[in-house]
Amino acid sequence: MTGVTSNHNKKIIFDMDGVITSEECYWDAASLTVWELLYSKRYLGLKPEPALPPFRTDVNPAEIASIREVIFQEGKVISFIKERAVNSNWDLAFLTFGYQLVLLLEILDKKNVAKDDWFKSKKCLESKHLPELSLLILSLPGRWMPSFAAILGDWPGKSRGQKLMQKLSLRLPGMYGSLAKNSFKPLSPLWKTTRDIFQEWYLGEKKFKEAYHREPAAPGKKGLIFNEKPLLPPEKIKDTLMQLLNEGWLLGIATGRPLNELYPLLESMHIVKLFDCSSIVTADDVQKAEQFLKTEKQAAAFSLGKPHPFSFLKAYWGKEIPEKELLSPRGMRPQPGKCLVVGDSPADLLAAREAGFRFVGVSSGHRGNDGRNILEDSGAQVVLPDITHIPRYLAGRPS
Ligand SMILES: [Mg+2]
Repeated sequence: MTGVTSNHNKKIIFDMDGVITSEECYWDAASLTVWELLYSKRYLGLKPEPALPPFRTDVNPAEIASIREVIFQEGKVISFIKERAVNSNWDLAFLTFGYQLVLLLEILDKKNVAKDDWFKSKKCLESKHLPELSLLILSLPGRWMPSFAAILGDWPGKSRGQKLMQKLSLRLPGMYGSLAKNSFKPLSPLWKTTRDIFQEWYLGEKKFKEAYHREPAAPGKKGLIFNEKPLLPPEKIKDTLMQLLNEGWLLGIATGRPLNELYPLLESMHIVKLFDCSSIVTADDVQKAEQFLKTEKQAAAFSLGKPHPFSFLKAYWGKEIPEKELLSPRGMRPQPGKCLVVGDSPADLLAAREAGFRFVGVSSGHRGNDGRNILEDSGAQVVLPDITHIPRYLAGRPS
């Protein structure tokens, strides 16, 4: 066990988005993804309502803002989903689109206009089926329109994280229910399409081709990554991290971002060298570990993303520790008092709690009081306005 014993005595592991980097561009990408799935002719091809522009790939910043306002209901949908410990913004987009799909299937069921043979021949909905589904929408009396506020109800009950998608499919009867259940599984074909569309919006055509070595489904996207802005002034972030290093803490990262979406930002803030490279865990490490589980046949489709504690445990023990040890039923618990996890979401809090880490929340990830309320409602004991308050908090001084 080389990680903690040889490398460090004390470690702070940071979530990134809402803590050091901003999540704004990801939320723009998520709203554009839902908009594309609903209104592009390649998918459902609905006629847009007056508040939304018709689908195209060269949208301007004002249009992006208005699409996000409508689809996420001025941020209420983002808070609603994040409060329920959904960490990945791919899942945020999938759940938001999936909810509209369920509303549509409910109407088709009630109006009894669905062609049963068409549904019976499908085990699982894929993107190529969406244009066919849109023909069924045309047979509905009146014009069917998405209802973006409808997701803000009490349908999730106590479900959290990935269980929300399963919960959604339970709303549908019979064959619609089993079709939705298969379509909403983690890593389903429709989830993968949603992720790909999201990545096209976020990276833009050129970077998408570089990252995935293939053409995007819809060419002409510029890339929201070029609009990324730091959450706080970079010099304040750097000063804070330097203070913590000087006080003997090693610094790590556990983020849902892939490595190629993390490093350019850390480099632009001149903070990449402040982190211990063996303690930086990204979406790539999580995917690699999920692949390991698959080959070990430990689970068919199992997510190790937050709120699973895997990424915090890996950042704590160091990347050289084999997955097998980290994921063993005995688990590798952190040494008491030696580690702190800093995050802005209930998914971070649940993951930290599950693995036995001390958790400090920051409310900088959301507008107004939302960040504090979301964390305190989930049981966070300590919520600071942002990371610059951490050195004072650790020194036992009021912030
Ligand atoms: Mg976050």
